[in-house]
Amino acid sequence: MSRHVVIVGGGIAGLATAYYLQKIAAADAVPLQITLVERDARLGGKIVTALEDGFVVEGGPDSFITQKPWALQLCRELGLSDRLMGTNDAQRAVYIWRRGRLRKMPDGMLLVVPTRFLPFITSDVISWPGKLRMGLDLFIPPRQDDADESLAAFIRRRLGQEALDVLAEPMMAGIHVSDAERLSLLATFPRYRDIERKYGSLTRGMIASRRAQARAASASGNGHGRTTVFMTLRDGLQELVSAIGGALTATLITGRGVHAIARTAVGYRLTLDDGRALDADAVVLATPAYVSAALLRPLKPELADRLEAIRYVSTATVSLGFAAADLARPLNGFGFVVPRQEPTRLLACTWTSTKFTHRARPGAVLLRAFVGGPRREDLVALDDKALIALVREELAGIMGISATPILARVYRWPRGNPQYDVGHLERVAQIEALCPPGLYLTGSAYRGVGLPDCIQQGQATAQQVVAALKQVALLTGHSEFRESER
Ligand SMILES: Cc1cc2nc3c(=O)[nH]c(=O)nc-3n(C[C@H](O)[C@H](O)[C@H](O)COP(=O)(O)OP(=O)(O)OC[C@H]3O[C@@H](n4cnc5c(N)ncnc54)[C@H](O)[C@@H]3O)c2cc1C
Repeated sequence: MSRHVVIVGGGIAGLATAYYLQKIAAADAVPLQITLVERDARLGGKIVTALEDGFVVEGGPDSFITQKPWALQLCRELGLSDRLMGTNDAQRAVYIWRRGRLRKMPDGMLLVVPTRFLPFITSDVISWPGKLRMGLDLFIPPRQDDADESLAAFIRRRLGQEALDVLAEPMMAGIHVSDAERLSLLATFPRYRDIERKYGSLTRGMIASRRAQARAASASGNGHGRTTVFMTLRDGLQELVSAIGGALTATLITGRGVHAIARTAVGYRLTLDDGRALDADAVVLATPAYVSAALLRPLKPELADRLEAIRYVSTATVSLGFAAADLARPLNGFGFVVPRQEPTRLLACTWTSTKFTHRARPGAVLLRAFVGGPRREDLVALDDKALIALVREELAGIMGISATPILARVYRWPRGNPQYDVGHLERVAQIEALCPPGLYLTGSAYRGVGLPDCIQQGQATAQQVVAALKQVALLTGHSEFRESER
């Protein structure tokens, strides 16, 4: 008798869980029936790509980091190696909008840490007192205890207030669309704490890390097809979703959500929006934490309370295409970020067609602005016309763009960004401990928001599900599972 696993949510975490469940079960000769239920008509969740008039427009993520290998590995495993594209690193530059000018981040910065002296010292991004304060990082003793702290507290402690305001808040907290004063260091940038411990200073640690990266890059060659820090797929990340969907033999139910979950004598019964019921031996919830909370409240209110404590904020992305000839300034970089002290309503803007080739049709460029976040969530509620007008107004002020866009696309992500507040990892451990047997939680709410993290969590969840089902089969004497144990 095969076991039935139902995965709820067809974002990247749910898809990865289904893919690896199928793979591990096949390798272990474990008979599994897998059903994935996605409320939307399409799979992918936050991954959504529109191919329009020669533009490749990403509504959510536009790339994944390769230092965490799971997304790259999955792409390769799915036969997408030829579709992978690196960033145009010859144009790699990031600007900061500060005191009325776009100022280039000095070469050699690793996020917020300078690893090259001359470009940093001659840059106008940070004031002289700010630079001197950052230099004190070389002398400040490392923190000794293991307690979590906010990203803001950590950066203020090591590099000072100006580095926090101008660099860390937009560059690091910005990745998580979070307030640096609340963002957990250990849940988001644990490596920084490790570096502080190991080298006694972020600067020393980052210089060592940059040298190691340079050695690895020269060992792997710098020719065409090389791996860059961020990568994407030629026709957008939707290619990954399609490839996983194509590889799945699971039953896919789209356009209907799971409405309720109840315990049965042997497992769980899930009721879909259309009243249909699915019986499952194991359930994986790959939904946002607040959706999982609502589904689990009747089963375990204490678990639901903890899930609800994971906050979310809303954002929107606005992609604008222009005729290249209409732009006053060259798009000689990957874009700009905005410190929160600056009076603009943009969080950041990616110069998409510079960051990656093949994003705009010939003779055109593509930009993508980010709006909303912890301080301006209200903006996400504006209608498309108002959001586009707002972004155009800001880009006119910052980049001098007065032309009418030849393409405009808005994507809203209400409650789209989970917030890893200080103490997040402890909260997640408590949540996991409260999960009843046969019920699993996975995805961006828990142990990493990036695509590689979500894929890795899906893989880990699949391993746990198969291991637990095997265990139950051993206890209850199901012969087909015993076969696979030999
Ligand atoms: C604007 C933006 C830009 C980003 N950029 C990047 C980037 O460049 N690189 C990167 O690595 N990461 C990026 N991220 C983060 C990353 O995209 C997300 O963390 C990740 O895609 C989330 O995947 P998930 O599967 O956990 O959740 P989701 O993608 O949210 O999937 C959850 C799914 O559950 C479904 N669902 C909800 N309720 C139900 C129900 N009751 N029944 C059935 N289904 C249900 C939803 O419809 C959804 O499809 C970005 C995120 C945003 C919002």
